[in-house]
Amino acid sequence: MSFALEKKVAELAVKRASALAKLVADTHIDSITKTDKSPVTVADYGAQAIIINAIKHVFPNDNVVGEEDAANLRADPTLKQHVWSLVKDATDKDSASASAIGSIQTAEEMCDSIDAGNYEGGRNGRMWALDPIDGTKGFLRRGQYAVCLALVVDSVVQVGVIGCPNLPLDYKSSGTSENGVLFSAVKGLGAFQQSLFGSEPEKPIKFHEISSTSEATFCESVEAGHSSHDTQAKIAQTLGITKPPVRMDSQAKYVSIARGDGDIYLRLPVHADYQEKIWDHAAGNVIVTEAGGVVTDKDGHPLDFGVGRTLKDNKGVIAASKAIHAKVLEAVKNVTGA
Ligand code: AMP
Ligand code: MG
Repeated sequence: MSFALEKKVAELAVKRASALAKLVADTHIDSITKTDKSPVTVADYGAQAIIINAIKHVFPNDNVVGEEDAANLRADPTLKQHVWSLVKDATDKDSASASAIGSIQTAEEMCDSIDAGNYEGGRNGRMWALDPIDGTKGFLRRGQYAVCLALVVDSVVQVGVIGCPNLPLDYKSSGTSENGVLFSAVKGLGAFQQSLFGSEPEKPIKFHEISSTSEATFCESVEAGHSSHDTQAKIAQTLGITKPPVRMDSQAKYVSIARGDGDIYLRLPVHADYQEKIWDHAAGNVIVTEAGGVVTDKDGHPLDFGVGRTLKDNKGVIAASKAIHAKVLEAVKNVTGA
């Protein structure tokens, strides 16, 4: 299947949500702390509302696993009004997409859209996995963040779309190109990037070809609490890597290696009981695979998106090109003793 309509709808929704996020980042970011101590901002809520409403406009029977819920907005009318004004503004500025992805009519409908991301996940059927602002900490520090959306059908990621408002369109031109890249992939049909806010059209992306892992650059989280910098440094050393790691927040790591800016993404667990969330990996997974890469957990197993809202049967993530993934996995096994 080509999933052409799904890709188009996902791209338009991610573009509208990314414009909202960029406006918030360029002006003032209001953030609050969730019960799990992680931060959430007005942009997380606004982006989730826009994207779920777009999905339901075109595919009313599809399920959505979204990171956020609207409880805080329902309890705080001022916050709800603030998010609603951002959603209305982003929608009004995007009138070109109105017929394709619709628009939210009221603040109440906005909360209902956010709460429609409460699907529990599962093995069969169609579901979308949504991280409205992945890398919220990067968003707060004006670093990398990403709006991430994937369609999973019978546990397999078929479509992935990622908007990176702060990533240069052309990394290698170092600072001279515009910021804002939209990445998309459909399983079996390749991976692409295009301008997120400008007019540069879609072009294919692929991994950088390297002959030895010693030439590789590896990417990891900025947050030391999200993946083990120490273990990853030992693995890099085992692979003969001498360049320092490139640290960035969000699934910008997946898309950066997919287009050849870096080569390896390592995410080794810090806490044995942490379960990775499906919305943190689904879109990046198909983009990496379609660009010529392989994604596994630390034991070499593919990520299983069919076991609920989390990847409870996988620990850690290793992503790299087909040519070097096996070597990286071997180094991980040697260093971690698994
Ligand atoms: P990153 O940008 O690579 O730091 O990843 C951001 C994501 O890390 C967030 O979306 C969280 O869902 C996720 N996260 C939160 N706590 C942990 C943890 N202890 N280990 C791994 N990932 C986490
Ligand atoms: Mg996230």
